Amino acid sequence: MDRVREVKEDINYAYDTLNGIKKSLSGLYEKKDSLKAELKFLIRQHEEQVKQIRVRNAANRRKKPCAICGEMFDYNITWKHIPNICPKCKKKPHSRD
Ligand SMILES: [Zn+2]
Repeated sequence: MDRVREVKEDINYAYDTLNGIKKSLSGLYEKKDSLKAELKFLIRQHEEQVKQIRVRNAANRRKKPCAICGEMFDYNITWKHIPNICPKCKKKPHSRD
């Protein structure tokens, strides 16, 4: 008789554990949807910031001729040091500005 009670207690314990796991899982499942929405919002916000930075960068971009080869190259008016030679000439040795 005691053995039967022991087994019943074990089964009840297993059942309670299972219910606890089920509850945790459904809680996580509900969180999943709100986290998904939050992630979507953050991605949209990030894309908007990237777009604004691109627009700002484009507005600050100018072209000038290279002092060595004469080819036009892009620079940004916000740069501390605005180069006089293009990136291609800068890569070549003995042609630093
Ligand atoms: Zn050049």
